[in-house]
Order: sequence, then C-alpha cells, then structure tokens
Amino acid sequence: MESSVRTTTLPCGEAIPVLGQGTWKMGEDSRRRSEEVDALKLGLDLGVTLIDTAEMYAGGGAEEVVAKAIAGRRAEVFLVSKVLPSNASRAGVQRACENSLRRLATDRIDLYLLHWPGSVPLSETVEAFEALKKAGKIRHWGVSNFDTDEMQELAFLSDGDKVQTNQVLYNLVRRGPEFDLTPWMRKRGIPLMAYSPVEQGALAHNARLTAVAARHGATAAQIALAWVMRQDGVIAIPKAGSQAHVRQNFAALDIKLTPQDIADLGSAFPPPSRKSGLEMI
Ligand code: NDP
Repeated sequence: MESSVRTTTLPCGEAIPVLGQGTWKMGEDSRRRSEEVDALKLGLDLGVTLIDTAEMYAGGGAEEVVAKAIAGRRAEVFLVSKVLPSNASRAGVQRACENSLRRLATDRIDLYLLHWPGSVPLSETVEAFEALKKAGKIRHWGVSNFDTDEMQELAFLSDGDKVQTNQVLYNLVRRGPEFDLTPWMRKRGIPLMAYSPVEQGALAHNARLTAVAARHGATAAQIALAWVMRQDGVIAIPKAGSQAHVRQNFAALDIKLTPQDIADLGSAFPPPSRKSGLEMI
C-alpha cells in the first residue's frame, strides 16, 4: 500500500508535506513540456502536493508548466513561488506577484519567498509581503538563501516573525547549515526547505550512497532524500522531470535509515566543524 506523505508544521500552524516537487529547469524546452506536466500530476496523485517554482525559472516558463499540472485541482496544492531580489521593492513585489499569478493561472500563492537577499531594504519587502497577504494574493511568505545573520536581522523587523520558511541548499555534501542555521530555525519552529537535495542529480551516482542503498534495495538518490527527510522540520523539494523519478522519490518516504546507515553516511559526509558562509546554487 502506498504511504501518505508525512507532514511538518509551519509557524502559522499549517501542516505541509516533507516532500515537495521542484521545478527549476522545467519549461525550458517545449518538447519536454508534456512529460514535465505529467510528472508533476503524478506527484499530486501520490500526495506530493507541495510544488516549488519561481518567476526566475525559464523566465516564467516553469510557472506555466505548473499551471497546466494543477489545472482543475488547485485546492489540493500547496504552491510555493519566489520573487527575485531585483523585484523586491513594494511596487516590484506587487507587480511580480501579479505576473506569477497570471502565469500560474491562480488567484493565490500559498507561500511566496524572497529568492535571495538583495539591495532593497528587507523591511520594505516584508511590508510588501504583508500587503499581499491582506489582499489575499498570498497566504504566507518566507525567504530563501538566508544565512543565520540574515535570519536574525529579519527577526528584529516588524512582522519579521511572520516568516514561514527559509529555503536553502542542503544535502549530504552541503551540510553547512547544520552548524548554526538549522539549530537557530529549529529553536523558533521554522522549517528548512532543502533545495537541490540530490545535488542536482550528482548524488544519484555516488558510490558511498550506493553502498547504503543496496541494504534497502533502493537507489542512491532515494537514500539522499531519505537522509534529508528523516530530520524534524526539514522538507526536501527534488525536481523530477519523469514519472519514474517521481515514483522513486515518493518511495523514499518509506525508507527508514538505520543507526548504522546514519553512522556510515556521517563518516562519508561529515557534518561541519566550523561556520562557513551559506552556499548557493
Ligand atoms: P535536485 O537535487 O532536485 O536534482 C534534480 C536532478 O536530479 C534532475 O536532473 C533530476 O533528473 C534528478 N533526479 C530527480 N530524482 C531522481 C531520482 N529519483 N533518481 C535519479 N535522479 C533523479 O536539484 P534542483 O537544483 O532541481 O533542486 C530542486 C528544486 O529546488 C529546484 O527544482 C527548485 O524548485 C528548487 N531550487 C531552489 C533554489 C533557490 O535558490 N531557492 C536553487 C536551486 C533549486 P530528471 O529531471 O531527469 O528527473
């Protein structure tokens, strides 16, 4: 029997799946469009209802792919999109959001993220997000690629405590956030959304992961995902462009890593021993 997707809780109290579907690189090639739409639709059928996209991806083309996949089933979906820092002014956020809504063919975004920190004062972007919330165009907002000092700065702002997530690069070969970012967020009940959880496909070919995967009759990519998702308050958003990969990623929810697996993965991919700046892809 297929398992239902585990959830984690946002600071607002809403539960969202710990496995989502990424969309970077979707919408770039019209010949792949129907396969991409079918992959996202299968994910929804399986209960992987969180979809992550951005105005940046394929210059808005990824949002159009998402629109096709969610047509007629918007209520099932927890839709995440992102505004570029160059659009993060009060007027810019308003305009960017309207454009995303049009491409997504919906009237609301569930979680709207600032894609990375930029030069517009953060307080202005937060005000713009709160105005969009009042207007019903977004339900919640968050940030992406924020290191600990940037999260601290946000926390001091008026309404800064309304942040619902920080989406960052996190996987077995990018464990830097564990040093102080993850603990800071966990203490405040803010889930971390891990992007590139398969290191853009590279971990699918990793020999150390393949060895652990063999014990579970699984693939290396599935172990990479199971490792990310085993942690409280961490959401993985792999991008899968085919139905086969969607099925495998869904099945990774059922993999229970043993203490031996965790120890072996920890020695192959050691945790950080000191602070280093947050990495970005
Ligand atoms: P991922 O780590 O998700 O890797 C995607 C690659 O892995 C694709 O080539 C995909 O192939 C492959 N893959 C997926 N599932 C499997 C599987 N089961 N077995 C083998 N290979 C697999 O990288 P992304 O960079 O795409 O990150 C995921 C998402 O995170 C993005 O799509 C985007 O939504 C978000 N993101 C956010 C960023 C930010 O700055 N906030 C930055 C980067 C990403 P195929 O397509 O053929 O299935």
